[in-house]
Amino acid sequence: MLREQIYAQATAALQERRRHAQQEQERRSDQIEREIPETLELNRHLRATCTAILQAAQSGNPQERLRQIEQRSLEADAMLRQLLTAHGYPADYLDLHYACPDCSDTGFVSGVPCACLKKEIGRISAEQLNVQSGLKLSSFERFSLSYYRDLPAEQQQAMAKVLQACKRYAADFAPGKAGNLLMFGGTGLGKTHLSLSIAKEILDKGYSVVYDATGSLLHILEREKFGRAEQDDTMQLLLECDLLILDDFGTEQDSSLNRSMIYTLLNSRINSGRAMIVNTNLDHAEIRTRYGDRILSRLLFTSEILHFYGKDIRMQKYMEQRG
Ligand SMILES: [Zn+2]
Repeated sequence: MLREQIYAQATAALQERRRHAQQEQERRSDQIEREIPETLELNRHLRATCTAILQAAQSGNPQERLRQIEQRSLEADAMLRQLLTAHGYPADYLDLHYACPDCSDTGFVSGVPCACLKKEIGRISAEQLNVQSGLKLSSFERFSLSYYRDLPAEQQQAMAKVLQACKRYAADFAPGKAGNLLMFGGTGLGKTHLSLSIAKEILDKGYSVVYDATGSLLHILEREKFGRAEQDDTMQLLLECDLLILDDFGTEQDSSLNRSMIYTLLNSRINSGRAMIVNTNLDHAEIRTRYGDRILSRLLFTSEILHFYGKDIRMQKYMEQRG
């Protein structure tokens, strides 16, 4: 999708939020007028203020009249708030509640794009990139510990703890505060499933998440680097999204270009405190050999480390289906 289309989609989403805030306010207002009929007169008075101001502007002594109107509307407003709290509602119950108080969901503050507009653009861009990914979102409910039941007890317990850690990570996620997860273990042990379950929960909270196999992401970056792609801002997106999931880290082609892109990506995200989930079939020594001590130690220091145990679940499912 072109940048202009992403921008148009983001501003449309904000417009929708604004409309929703207005509809909700009307709904609350109708409800309160039914429940507390005294508010009807006060609301009518407040609504009439605009007309009164326009009329005053054309009158002989506008300043004095405007002062009186302001005084009366302040009194009406204060009475309305008192009525609301007396009936157990918050004093601001009838105010407009925008999702972003900074820009009242317009996307701009004094002509400058608001953080919420930039966030929405990031979210849509990430969504677009994920469409190309072969990975599909998953859920914790569909993750079964029964595939690990043949393991020794301590490994079963370890897998139960891994599941808990992933659920906790998703539940507590906040940009700039969440650390990294580093998942070690062989193919088919559930690393991707749990990563994509975390992704789903965090996307549902409205954050931007990019998830793909490390190799595919590097391939996109390479195409952009040599000007063979329609877009050229994937690196920026990978550096700035709220959560980056690098699946199958270490299966990408081992080249100096890939190493340098990986280095930039991991190093910049760690420096800016942006969260990552890195899944790998490699062990510590293999990562060290390929990417060096510096990256390995930075990853280890900034990550919660989860070791996966078991037998290839895809293989187990396949055998079950064959009966
Ligand atoms: Zn805003």
